[in-house]
Amino acid sequence: MDNACIKCGRCLSVCPVYKITSHERFSPRGKNDLIDLCLEGLLPNSHIAEAVNACILCGRCKEVCVLNIDTPEIIKKMRRRLWPEQKLHLYRSFITEKFLAFLQSETKQKVDTGIWWRLFALTRTLKFLPISFASRPFLSNIPTPAPKDTLKTKGTIAIFVGCGVNFIYPHLGEILLKLLGAMGFNVIVPPTQTCCGLMACSLGDIQTASRLAQQNISAFTQTKADIIITPCASCYHQLKIFSPYRQAGISPKVVELSQFLVNGGIETILKKVSSLNIKQIRTTWHDPCHLRFHHQIWEEPRQILRQTTTFVESSPEGQCCGHGGSFMLNFPELSERIFSQRQQAILKSNTKLVFTTCMGCLLQLQSHLGKQKARHLLEIFV
Ligand code: SF4
Ligand code: SF4
Repeated sequence: MDNACIKCGRCLSVCPVYKITSHERFSPRGKNDLIDLCLEGLLPNSHIAEAVNACILCGRCKEVCVLNIDTPEIIKKMRRRLWPEQKLHLYRSFITEKFLAFLQSETKQKVDTGIWWRLFALTRTLKFLPISFASRPFLSNIPTPAPKDTLKTKGTIAIFVGCGVNFIYPHLGEILLKLLGAMGFNVIVPPTQTCCGLMACSLGDIQTASRLAQQNISAFTQTKADIIITPCASCYHQLKIFSPYRQAGISPKVVELSQFLVNGGIETILKKVSSLNIKQIRTTWHDPCHLRFHHQIWEEPRQILRQTTTFVESSPEGQCCGHGGSFMLNFPELSERIFSQRQQAILKSNTKLVFTTCMGCLLQLQSHLGKQKARHLLEIFV
């Protein structure tokens, strides 16, 4: 791999992992050097695995790099090379190959009778757990929208649900379904859709990610929808950038939720649906890294909050929450320390509610700040 890095150090000042650890090997610059040495055969895989895993893939380094070096992409490619060894760590292959696939199969067939889903549902009674599973997955019980006269609708929208909404926050799927219907769209939820594959992709398990993508491509191609919308910022990112989705023509149809709502006219939407009465409540926005640093989307969610609440800024340049999916599992202590910096900024803003659209960020925010304080942007439109 040709490492053009001129060692200017600009990326070090923004990398959340480096800022916490101050270890050069955990910086974007250091990781690139280690990867080069490994690819040249001067270091064994085992020597660089920890540094390669210690990345949130937030994209911040790429945004500031003077040479536009795409460090997150370089890291993802290296993780693919390391995957045959990495998957020997049981929990990693368990997550990608077993757990998500298992949940999906339970969703479809056995939710009413399956012992596993009943056990998952018990998590709702264990208040000390940071997350709890829904009593029914959204996809097992898709509400049927009122049939619309296709000649009068504004078009057909397909919802990509994502694991977070399907298993933990099904009410968000219901809100989105109602909201899009009220806006005049014909809404469909392809029932055979599955996980977007982001977690598998981030861990380096490209085979599982591709298999999941193929299932989604088949589910969404059949719908002939004009637009695809997902309530999750990280699913949005995966659907936009993962090559199987791009090659199948899925990616261009995917529209980001806050941009879609702003284009629809928030005032007009508010006339059609009821909203939380929180105009006087001080709120702030948490930028999902996938939206802010990979797709440069930050203004629209703020615009929605300014129009519906008393918005107060708490991260003018974006600040990672430290979740990062597999990063939080691999480095829980680092994840907590990164979050504590974000938490300080939120507390300083003296706001009552913090909104976001990434399910990973939402889980991280809720597990530290409480379920009442951290909300999804859709929850404004009740
Ligand atoms: S993607 Fe984020 S965490 Fe990873 S090296 Fe770049 S700035 Fe650091
Ligand atoms: S900003 Fe880019 S060129 Fe500068 S040290 Fe980081 S990776 Fe290298």
